[in-house]
Parts: sequence; C-alpha cells; structure tokens
Amino acid sequence: MAVVKPETPSPRVPRAVAALTALALGIAGALPTAAQELFRPVPKAKDAVRVLLVTGGHDHDVSFYSVLDGQDDLDVRVDPHPNAFRGEVAPGRGADVVVLYDMPAAMAPGPEAHLRAFVEAGGGVVSLHHAIAGRTGWRWWWEEVIGGRYLETPEGDRPASTYKHDVEMTVRVAARHPVTAGLTDFRILDETYKGMWISPKVTALLTTDEATSDGPVAWVSPYSRARVVTIQLGHGREAHLHPSYRRLVRNAVLWVARRTP
Ligand SMILES: [Zn+2]
Repeated sequence: MAVVKPETPSPRVPRAVAALTALALGIAGALPTAAQELFRPVPKAKDAVRVLLVTGGHDHDVSFYSVLDGQDDLDVRVDPHPNAFRGEVAPGRGADVVVLYDMPAAMAPGPEAHLRAFVEAGGGVVSLHHAIAGRTGWRWWWEEVIGGRYLETPEGDRPASTYKHDVEMTVRVAARHPVTAGLTDFRILDETYKGMWISPKVTALLTTDEATSDGPVAWVSPYSRARVVTIQLGHGREAHLHPSYRRLVRNAVLWVARRTP
C-alpha cells in the first residue's frame, strides 16, 4: 500500500478546512492552536437526576442508550450484570432512580438486597421492556414492586407468555398523569407481549387494542414506598428513536425521581 504524504495546507486554504483536513489525516502538528484545547462537554446540571441504568441478560440495539443520553438534567451511569448492584445504592446518594433494561434470571443475594433496600428507602424505578421477564423467581419484586411478570413457561392452567416482533400498533393515552405529559395517541412499530400476569392494582397509563398485546403497555405500580413505572414498549430502534417513546421514558424517570416532567 502506498504511503500518502499529507500536504501542508496552503495559506489560501480556509483555516477551518485546514483544521478538518488535519484532523482527518491525523496530523496533530498541523492543528491550529484552538483545536488543541482540551475538549470538555457541557457539564451536567448540578441537580441532575442520578440514574443507574442496569443492563445485561438480554441483547439490545445500541440506539437504546440514546434514549437517556444527551440530557443535561439526567446523569446516567450504566451498571451491567453481573456487577450490577454490587454496591449499595441509596436514593439521594449515588442514584435517585434505577432504570432496568436488563433480564437476569435471578440476582445474587447481595445485589438483590441492595435493590430491595433502594426501593424500600423510596428510590424510584423505571422497568423497561424485557426487564419484566427477569427476576421472575423473586415474587415480592414482580408482585408488589413491578406489578407484572412475563411467564417464560406455562404455570398450571396458565400458558407461557408470548411475544411478537415488528408489530405496527396504535398506543392510546389511558390516563392523564405526569408520565404521559405531552403525549397524545401515537403509532409505533415495536414488540408486543401477551399472556403476562399484570397486577389488578396497577394504573394503566398507555394501552393498545393490538391483538398480540395484553393491552396495557405502560403502568404505575401499586407499590407505596417508591414510585415505580413499567413500560412494556422499547425493543428496538423504531421505539428508541420514536419521539413519543423518548418523551415517555424521560417523563417516567423524572416522575419516579419526584421531579416534574
Ligand atoms: Zn424485545
């Protein structure tokens, strides 16, 4: 392969073009002084909501991270399994909100105790999509905290839950609530779940008439010690990049943090 020797930009080449050319060619020595300043992104707001985003146990498109990235009032740290919740998390210290986009079959006793202590101390939780199929052996969690569970296998007379990808559906706003602030009914291409156990005590926020769905696709759980929102939507890019989905998740994070969306 021939070695291309970069040309020295002539004085007639505009300064910005010269800088971009130098960057593209990787000639540090040719960079103007201004481009050598240390890049510092805009700092997060001092009172930004501290979010612990827990992943692992299920693959997902990288576009998911864009749902929570780039917002000055959300300071998000990713805490993937198997290290998730290895340390204590306390609302007001370290994390105000836990966002679950994970699907662990079970969690080790230590991490489980840390997550339990977090919600019992009032820490907010937003459970997204496949997270409802994780921790299914932890009855207190799915029955009282989340208010729902995806059945991986049949249980007695109850068949296993089912999923369907790439479903075009209409999602309707079922309740006026801070989590649905700014939302109107919308169309989305996403994955549906059906045959889940959903607590009769939840407050449905969004519903769909789609036949392959249980109906409720976002709800507030009856758990009294912390604010907990479950959102079934959110499989792929079509959801992650959807303005209504992004607004929904942001609203949920702010509301469970006891901020105003
Ligand atoms: Zn999915």
